[in-house]
Amino acid sequence: MNLIDGKQIAAKVKGEVATEVRALAARGVQTGLTVVRVGDDPASAIYVRGKRKDCEEVGITSVEHHLPATTTQAELLALIARLNADPAVHGILVQLPLPKHVDERAVLDAISPAKDADGFHPFNVGALSIGIAGVPRPCTPAGVMRMLDEAKVDPKGKRALVVGRSNIVGKPMAMMLLERHATVTLAHSRTADLAGEVGRADILVAAIGKAELVKGAWVKEGAVVIDVGMNRLADGKLVGDVEFAAAAARASAITPVPGGVGPMTRAMLLVNTVELAKRTVR
Ligand code: NDP
Repeated sequence: MNLIDGKQIAAKVKGEVATEVRALAARGVQTGLTVVRVGDDPASAIYVRGKRKDCEEVGITSVEHHLPATTTQAELLALIARLNADPAVHGILVQLPLPKHVDERAVLDAISPAKDADGFHPFNVGALSIGIAGVPRPCTPAGVMRMLDEAKVDPKGKRALVVGRSNIVGKPMAMMLLERHATVTLAHSRTADLAGEVGRADILVAAIGKAELVKGAWVKEGAVVIDVGMNRLADGKLVGDVEFAAAAARASAITPVPGGVGPMTRAMLLVNTVELAKRTVR
């Protein structure tokens, strides 16, 4: 069984990004990511701190706009408009969730698709589904694809099951596996026989958000298991959506939690940012 080490692959990706950032700097372009955070959600504060540290590691300038929870939608849209017009800003990321009085979709839609570091803008989502290359892609599924490549897993012709259909993970994950010629099934909370679907999957991607919902005994012998889930148990332990030990006993390759998809998601944000910066000098 091959343990797909997200930390190690993320370190390799970061090394590549750092090289690209230096090459751009030599051409007079300092890659910049701007993060917008509204209010005081504690998890958001931790995520944003992590993103800043990642940027520092690879030489990307990161700027955070931390606005009070009372910020109006109009004020937020005005800030996005300013950032869209600022040539020093290559990537813009609005940390979710936003306060309830703000229309999240309207804010994400206001980000220029050419600065959309998360790849959530409808133009970029559409571009992924019709196969337009060179646009930013959602970081988590993009990170999973890179992990499959590093583990020498070619999705072509394989049965791939994605459990979870969110806009940030499940749906774009299915599109990326389809693009690489897998036969894709997308399961969700109304799927009739999840165990049966899992049992047929050569590649299983679990993005559910429920601790160990996918039983190891369901996993097909020799399958590749990618666990996106991050669930904190009452005792503080972090576990995935798949029963790790039992699944690992059947899988040919599997990602751990933590140390699997999480570090890759963070690394892919840096990739998106430097790619957006490169596009400004082409
Ligand atoms: P969402 O809550 O947006 O989506 C969860 C999906 O799981 C939904 O489509 C839901 O179905 C489906 N689901 C829920 N219960 C079941 C069930 N019993 N059987 C089958 N499907 C079910 O979550 P996200 O996509 O945002 O995140 C998923 C998980 O991945 C979370 O644990 C999150 O923390 C983690 N995550 C990890 C990241 C990383 O970097 N490692 C990045 C992003 C997320 P339905 O649509 O029918 O409700």
